[in-house]
Amino acid sequence: MVRDRFAPSPTGNVHVGSLRTALYNYLYAKKMGGEFLLRLEDTDQTRLEAGAVENLLDALNLTGVIPDEGLQKINGTITQAGAHGPYIQSERLNIYKKYIDILLEMGQAYYCFCSKERLEEVRNAQKEKGETPRYDGKCRELTKDEIKKNLEAGLPYTIRLKFPKNHVIRFDDLVRGVIEMNTDDLDDQVLLKADGFPTYHMAVVVDDHLMEITHVIRGEEWLPSTPKHVYLYECFGWDPPYFVHLPNILNDDRKKLSKRQGDVSVGDFLAKGYLPEALVNFLALLGWSPETEQEIFSMAELIDAFDLSRVNKSGAVFDRAKLNWMNAHYIKELPIDRLVNHLTPFLVQAGLLGSNEVHDKQDWLIKIAELLRERIEYFAQAPQELEVILNSDIVITDPEALALLQEESSKRLFEAIVTKIEASETLDANRGKAILKEIQKEEKIKGKLLYMPSRIMITGEMHGPDLTLIMDVLGKDEVLTRIKSAASFMK
Ligand code: GLU
Repeated sequence: MVRDRFAPSPTGNVHVGSLRTALYNYLYAKKMGGEFLLRLEDTDQTRLEAGAVENLLDALNLTGVIPDEGLQKINGTITQAGAHGPYIQSERLNIYKKYIDILLEMGQAYYCFCSKERLEEVRNAQKEKGETPRYDGKCRELTKDEIKKNLEAGLPYTIRLKFPKNHVIRFDDLVRGVIEMNTDDLDDQVLLKADGFPTYHMAVVVDDHLMEITHVIRGEEWLPSTPKHVYLYECFGWDPPYFVHLPNILNDDRKKLSKRQGDVSVGDFLAKGYLPEALVNFLALLGWSPETEQEIFSMAELIDAFDLSRVNKSGAVFDRAKLNWMNAHYIKELPIDRLVNHLTPFLVQAGLLGSNEVHDKQDWLIKIAELLRERIEYFAQAPQELEVILNSDIVITDPEALALLQEESSKRLFEAIVTKIEASETLDANRGKAILKEIQKEEKIKGKLLYMPSRIMITGEMHGPDLTLIMDVLGKDEVLTRIKSAASFMK
C-alpha cells in the first residue's frame, strides 16, 4: 500500500511551497488508495517557533489536506494518531540513538570530537585555497582508546557517517530518472549533534523506514541530500522508498519565490481573502500538469487526475495574476451564504459595517455581496470596491459617457426616470427593472441608449455590476440625488 508523508519543520508560517508538497503527497495517497501521514521534524531546536505547529495544522485543515495518520488537530486539540508513533521527532530520541549505535557497531559511523572552532579554521583554510569546504576526516580513524579517553574527559562530540572512498550511490527519482553520486564528493555527514539530537538526515531515514513510507515526495532542495539518505538505507540493509523531487517555485524573475516580491505564506493569502479551494487548485497546477487543458479542479477532481508521471522537472513560476484570476472564478461561484460569510469580516474591519449590525443587515449584505462578487479578485479588495459603489460624488469624465448623455434620447430618459422614481414608493431591483421597461415602451428608447445613460447617471461609469441591483442597494433617495446631479453633465 502507498504510504507517503508530509514532514515539515515547525519554523513559523507555512510557505505555499510546503502546502504544495503536502498537497501532492495527499493527492497521491488518495489516488492510490493509500495513506498520507504527517510527521513533525523538530530536531533543529534552534529554529522552533511558538504557535508554528498550530499554524501548520490549521492551514492543512482549512485547505482540506488532511492526514490519515500522525499529527492532527481535531476539534481544536492536537493529537497523534496511528500505529507508527510518536510522530514528533523530538519524542523519538531513543529510537535514533538505537540506530546510531548500530551504525557505530558496524563501523559505518564514528565519533568526531572536533570543536566548532577547529571546523571553522579548516573551512576557512580550504576556502582560501579555493577548495570546496568540507570535513577533513581528522576523527575518522580514532582508536578505541582515544575515543574512550575523550569520552571520559567529557569532550563534546558528534557522530558522523563514514562514507567509503570512491563508492557510487545510485537512486531513481521517479521524475528525474537515475541520479548518481560518488561518495568522494560528499562530506562525512553529521548524524547526531552535540546536543544529543539527530540531524535531519539520520532522523528522516530512520522514520521513513519505521513508518513504512513507500514514497518520499518533497521539494527539489532536498535532492542533494538524497544520496546520503540512500547510503544510510544501504548501511542498514533497508529497501529505500521511491523518491520524487518537486520543482522549485519561482518568482517572475525565475529566482526562488521570496517574501520580497509579495506574500509567500498560506496564512497571508488566507488573511487577504483568498479561498482555500482556489489556493489548492492553483498550487496543484504549480509543478504538475493534467492531461487536458482543464484549469479549474475540485479536490475530488484533482485526486482523480493526479499522476506523479506528470510532475514537471523545471521550476514553476508563481503567477500571482493567475492566482487572482482563479480566486475571482471561485468567488463568482460561491453560494451566497458563504460569500456573505467571507465578506463580512473584511467590511467590519474596514468600518463599513458595525460588528453588531451583521445580523440585522443580512438583506443588505446579500445585495452588496452580489454586487461585489463581480468586482473583486480577493476579499481584501471588497471595502474599497464597496466605497466606490457607495460614493455619491459622481464625476463623469469619459468622453464617450459624456457624448451618450448628450444624445437627444438621454434628455427624455432623464425626465422619465426622475418622474417614475419620484412616483415610486420605494426603489428595489424589481421596481428598477420595471421602470426601465416602461421607459423602453413609452419613450421608445432601447438597448445601449437606454441602459448606458441610466448607468452613467447613477454610477458615473459605463460598466459595472447589474444596474437594478445597484438601484436596490442605493435606494430611492440616493439614486434620485445622483441622477439629478448628473444633469449638470447633460447640458
Ligand atoms: N523537514 C524537512 C522540511 O522541512 C522535510 C524534508 C523531507 O520531506 O524529507 O522540508
